[in-house]
Amino acid sequence: LFVDAALAAGAALSVDGAQAHYLLAVMRAKPGAPVRLFDDRSGEWLATVTEAGRRSLTLTVDAHLAPREAVPDLWLCAAPIKRGRIDWVAEKATELGVARLVPVATRRTVVDRLNADRLRAHMVEAAEQCERTALPELAPLTPLAALLAAWPGGRALYFADEEGGAPLAGVARPGAAAILIGPEGGFTAEERTAIRAVPDAVAVSLGPRILRADTAAVAAVALWMAAAGD
Ligand code: SAM
Repeated sequence: LFVDAALAAGAALSVDGAQAHYLLAVMRAKPGAPVRLFDDRSGEWLATVTEAGRRSLTLTVDAHLAPREAVPDLWLCAAPIKRGRIDWVAEKATELGVARLVPVATRRTVVDRLNADRLRAHMVEAAEQCERTALPELAPLTPLAALLAAWPGGRALYFADEEGGAPLAGVARPGAAAILIGPEGGFTAEERTAIRAVPDAVAVSLGPRILRADTAAVAAVALWMAAAGD
């Protein structure tokens, strides 16, 4: 379970809400039950249930199990899409191991606000489910022009271009990288020109079919991870 506080041996924690429901109703946790925790800072810890109420529990942290995991340095930069679909992308990107999710506002982006708390909750739940001990960072909604203007030199920018490019699996390289996915309506011609002008940009194809934006994001991360992640 994720705990949004620095963990340390001997610390007592109270757990309520959805996490308590999971422990009490799904795992049937009783006093003495072991629970694994992570805090996204120091890694994974073993704790024990010391009290179990009807809707809340108390846990005591026992021992450090493992340091925070190292994830491949991959960012997913994607135009936000409709509610539900962006949640699904955040969940799957977390499971697949991205380090950072950057929602990007483009000319044809139809969603202009993001519920960061909801997105983060999906990411936490996905990390718990797949036993990640490092949460991806969630960047604020960033205009495409600002993202490109401040592009960190040396970070490969794999730009998924439905008009063609090198197959991603063939050009993906380990190291600092990002995948850029457009909105439902695609990038405009001016945006495509601006992206291609970034020295680290590589136009890539995800295959002969035009994928929906959410499918494209998840497929691209999976392809990069298979070719260059670990
Ligand atoms: N431009 C298209 C249109 O208006 O019909 C659709 C855009 S597509 C639904 C959304 C995004 O997914 C694209 O901007 C691109 O980044 C990515 N994408 C989808 N299929 C792709 C493919 N086969 N190769 C590369 N990128 C793809």
